[in-house]
Amino acid sequence: MQLTHKIALKPTKEQADYFQKAAGTSRFVWNWALAKWKEQYAAGQKPSAMALKKSFNAIKYKEFPWLMEMHRDSHAQPFAYLGKAWRRFFEEIKARKPANEPRFKKKNRSRDSFYVANDKFSVNEKMIKLPKIGHVTMTETLRFHGKILGATVSRTADKWFIAIQVDVPQHQANLKRMGYEIVGVDFGIKSVATLSTGECITTHAPLKSALRRLKIRGRAVSRKIEASKKRPKGTFITPSNNRKKSSLKLARLHAHIAHLRADFTHKLTTRLCRENQVIVIEDLHVAGMLKNVKLARAINDVGFGTIRRQLEYKALRYNTQLMVADRWYPSSKLCSVCHWKNGTLTLNERSWHCPHCNTLHDRDVNAAHNLKRLATETALLVASYVGNGNTALERVFNVVEKVTPVRYECGHKDASGQEENREHFCSHF
Ligand SMILES: [Zn+2]
Repeated sequence: MQLTHKIALKPTKEQADYFQKAAGTSRFVWNWALAKWKEQYAAGQKPSAMALKKSFNAIKYKEFPWLMEMHRDSHAQPFAYLGKAWRRFFEEIKARKPANEPRFKKKNRSRDSFYVANDKFSVNEKMIKLPKIGHVTMTETLRFHGKILGATVSRTADKWFIAIQVDVPQHQANLKRMGYEIVGVDFGIKSVATLSTGECITTHAPLKSALRRLKIRGRAVSRKIEASKKRPKGTFITPSNNRKKSSLKLARLHAHIAHLRADFTHKLTTRLCRENQVIVIEDLHVAGMLKNVKLARAINDVGFGTIRRQLEYKALRYNTQLMVADRWYPSSKLCSVCHWKNGTLTLNERSWHCPHCNTLHDRDVNAAHNLKRLATETALLVASYVGNGNTALERVFNVVEKVTPVRYECGHKDASGQEENREHFCSHF
């Protein structure tokens, strides 16, 4: 199992300068290769990353002698990345997904990073030996043991990090699960996650106050940019020291927020995987939801895509089953008690009353209950069925009607292979 540990570095001034140069080299080579690729493509040729790398190697030291100071990984790897980027682009076009062509990287706009191959560095406790610059202090020791696959050095605000990929044997990657519950999780905007136990998990206060500060600092930077625009047109203005200072402050705050967010999602996903043997979530259509401008900010803040990705790999480590409900499963609209479907429920209704069985539902808790119900075998079809369009919709509703409340499921036997889980499940009721 491939795991990555990202560790903050404590480089000296010279080392940090080298990092900056190496990241610049990577960017330069990427742009060189991308330009050539487009040139060849326009001329009707069939460009390839390998061929481009070969032609670059033939001229690089003659045309760009400064490359000799840099380690070769920083100017060899971009070709592999570019090849991969184009491959992904064409695959997405083939699958009729929205795809973006690889783009040129702009200084200060793109992420500063460069690659180091696994045979070019060695790790010893809190020290890492990198090519050309020697030992750099790390703030932590490497957490995973196994075959080291490679590393990427990158910068966030004014800090440098190294992300080391390790191939960890499965038995070592496995972690001990502490609980055997089955939980339905409804992700939302108001509370990030609502569990079928009734618990609402909201983002923590530091993130909220940091987002408020973000506005203030963002304004401070744009004020300085506005001020510099008052000069006559066409004159190139180097950013003032004050502008640089406030930009750095803003960048640091962005990094701080990213860290708070990462901390939150990691703790949430670890907790869910550690305490449950089955987790049922919705297949959120994030890209579609982002089109709704009002929701976009809130969704980006929460980072649903990240939550989903973390759940997937942590479920493997804790041997937890992750079930994803079909996108068309009406988890909010069904009454979790009598299964009556509230077809007129709107996004704004936070709670609703079921006329059929007289239950007052909290929208999110009810959805979480419905998701949890999918962990029983009758509804597995809905959860595992992937598709779209009307046929899927019909099928979902047909199956949903047949769903039996979980508490009646005890003792049922069928060929779904869920016996183990269900046995355990029964003991809880
Ligand atoms: Zn009802």
